[in-house]
Amino acid sequence: CADSAMYLAKELGRNNYQFFTTELNVRAQHRYALEKNLRRALSEQEFLVYYQPKVCLQTSRIVGAEALIRWQMPDVGLIPPDEFIPISEEIGLILPIGRWVLEQSCRQVKIWRETLAPELVISVNISPKQFQDPSLLNIIQQVLHDTGLPGYALQLEITEGLLMGELELLLPIFNAIKKLGISISLDDFGTGFSSLSYLQRFPIDNLKIDRSFIRDIPEKQDSVVLTRAIIAMATALGLSVTAEGVEKSEQLQFLTESRCQEMQGFHFSKPLSATDFENLLTKYIV
Ligand code: C2E
Ligand code: MG
Ligand code: MG
Ligand code: MG
Repeated sequence: CADSAMYLAKELGRNNYQFFTTELNVRAQHRYALEKNLRRALSEQEFLVYYQPKVCLQTSRIVGAEALIRWQMPDVGLIPPDEFIPISEEIGLILPIGRWVLEQSCRQVKIWRETLAPELVISVNISPKQFQDPSLLNIIQQVLHDTGLPGYALQLEITEGLLMGELELLLPIFNAIKKLGISISLDDFGTGFSSLSYLQRFPIDNLKIDRSFIRDIPEKQDSVVLTRAIIAMATALGLSVTAEGVEKSEQLQFLTESRCQEMQGFHFSKPLSATDFENLLTKYIV
């Protein structure tokens, strides 16, 4: 990107060239500051885990929560993950961050299972970069051991992009994860470019239909048809289905009629701080 900007700058002549290099400098400085702040955030414990409920469509009960990281930056406020996860992946900081989210959310959910919601399952997003780390399996085992959370109360959310890598290397890790009782969900399903053959080859338990399909229900016939098809396919393959980004009661109704099992979205609740999620559990009586 920097190269092509430079090339473009040269094409445009001398004055513009200067303009562009200044612009690039500013961007580089901004990025450097962000990197520095991120490293500090980790050591100063500025990260938080928010929890968004997952609701069973048949019983309307809260059956799980997705752990979603936030960065509480002093003097700035709450920063969403899209603004720092990609950079954390690039500079390798995702490994300690990912481990922290896993540990924090498993510890929290272990407590909620004991006090308020005995069957609550925690879903944690795992970056493809974490699968490149040979110690991932050890880390997961260690976290389950340290927090006392049973493996079946943990679900890992992965994305299709991961499955475009070297499948032979991944399969043993997946199988070992499954042996711990942990389930695997394919996040943002339908937005990737990988082939569907991995659904046969990988021990996947759940498909999470991407928000972009749900958003246009019921207005767009294409989204309606595709969502029905995904649910039918998943059901035939013995996988459960979760819909993400459910905002309207029409969507809820459509998903219930289509026999989708689970939903997550602002219609039920936004992601909440641990305190607010706990209050919701108390009110709701899971
Ligand atoms: P995701 O895993 O697909 O998470 C769902 C995102 O959709 C969340 O955004 C959630 O707040 C948002 N969402 C849920 N329901 C609705 C809805 O009804 N309407 C709308 N408009 N949005 C909804 P968030 O929390 O900003 O996270 C964005 C992405 O950042 C996540 O997408 C995930 O890819 C990544 N992420 C978040 N936490 C972590 C983490 O701990 N580790 C890693 N590796 N990635 C994370
Ligand atoms: Mg997710
Ligand atoms: Mg998602
Ligand atoms: Mg998504």
